[in-house]
Amino acid sequence: MLVVLALFYSSIDAVNPSRYNPPSIHTFSHIGVITLTTTQTLFRLATRLDEVGFSDIVNIRNRVMNLRAAGETVYQFEGGEPYLETPDSIKQAMTAALQENKTRYAPSSGIPILREAIAEKLRRKNSIPAGIEDVIVVNGGMQGLFGAFQSVVNPGDEVLLFSPYWTPIKDLVAHCRGRIVLVPVTEARKRGFRETLGRYTTDRTKAIYYNTPQNPPGVVLTQDEAEFVAQFSRDRELVVIADEAYEDLLYDGAHVSIASLPGMFERTITCFTLSKSYAMTGWRLGYVAANEPWMTGLRKTTLYSSNGVSTPTQWAGLAALQIKADVLTSHCEEYRKRRDLLVNGLREIGFECEMPAGAFYAFPSIACLGHDSRAVAELLLDRAHVATVPGVVFGPDGEGHLRFSFSTPIETIEAGLESLKRMKL
Ligand code: PLP
Repeated sequence: MLVVLALFYSSIDAVNPSRYNPPSIHTFSHIGVITLTTTQTLFRLATRLDEVGFSDIVNIRNRVMNLRAAGETVYQFEGGEPYLETPDSIKQAMTAALQENKTRYAPSSGIPILREAIAEKLRRKNSIPAGIEDVIVVNGGMQGLFGAFQSVVNPGDEVLLFSPYWTPIKDLVAHCRGRIVLVPVTEARKRGFRETLGRYTTDRTKAIYYNTPQNPPGVVLTQDEAEFVAQFSRDRELVVIADEAYEDLLYDGAHVSIASLPGMFERTITCFTLSKSYAMTGWRLGYVAANEPWMTGLRKTTLYSSNGVSTPTQWAGLAALQIKADVLTSHCEEYRKRRDLLVNGLREIGFECEMPAGAFYAFPSIACLGHDSRAVAELLLDRAHVATVPGVVFGPDGEGHLRFSFSTPIETIEAGLESLKRMKL
């Protein structure tokens, strides 16, 4: 308060020649009013951030850190990143870029050679008919999704999300002052996608967030399901924001990019990241494929936030795209071993658990222990030192479940399962 008053006085002094005269009572009361207004409005976060939250997962990570700091062993299943190291060829490309002084500003949308390589990958692997002009390089999946929602959602618009859903999507929509509408994925699979989406759509519905393979349930949406959603979005004139962060982590079925279906590229913004496929979470590198007008939106949001991705990182990204497909397949087989070990182990202990078809999470029901996923996550952490994420973090359809990541060493999975067994559920 005193600082505010002092600042206010000094600004009056600058324009008031009689600044050495003592201020009148009137001036003081006037200042009092202004100060009050200032503290109420100036030191208030912009309202558009009111509904934007922080991830609950951070709280769990803090508890794990505290336990570890106290010298305890914690079996960590709460994470969301590859257990592998970034491949050497990617690191070497970064080192070479630095040595060759590729350190200056790059075009905000990405270096042309990388965008060209991405467009070629999109055509070959995803059957998305993209040219270089349809590609932008961004700082990880998150910046791509941020730009996508900013480009599409107006205040009051509704966005359909298959639920349970990856939590930050709620906040990305909130930042646009839009509203999420949850579509339970189990209901859609049971009753049919077209009918279920129809029940949740209103005249305010603007877009569908389409994530496959899904985080957290590990569901991989099939070709038929993609076609139903595509048909629905064309019939209802909706935009699709596709999130294919886990496209390379697939154990059963095939990955279908919804933008590859007839008439879909122009209404779909597809967000990719190198984080999961190439163990590059800390590099912050991703890309988006979209047509106009969305690409202009993505260019603006990128230009005025990060002004692009660091230049050496982009050269490293180019090396990542040159990694042979069989290397990715062999990584995937490693994840499959871990998936089978974890899911079979959880089932033996008494958890009901679907075998995830993609991504690297198991999402068992906790019916054998209760329904309150926060309480059960606490219980496992306290009694077995097993860290998981409560399913409710991923929306109400996630309640009654826990998320276990199997992107972790085999020994951690074995030791964590042993610890759960000792807990005697
Ligand atoms: N989409 C999904 C479904 C994710 O789970 C994640 C990360 O966990 C992302 C996108 C964003 O990935 P990043 O910003 O690390 O590239």
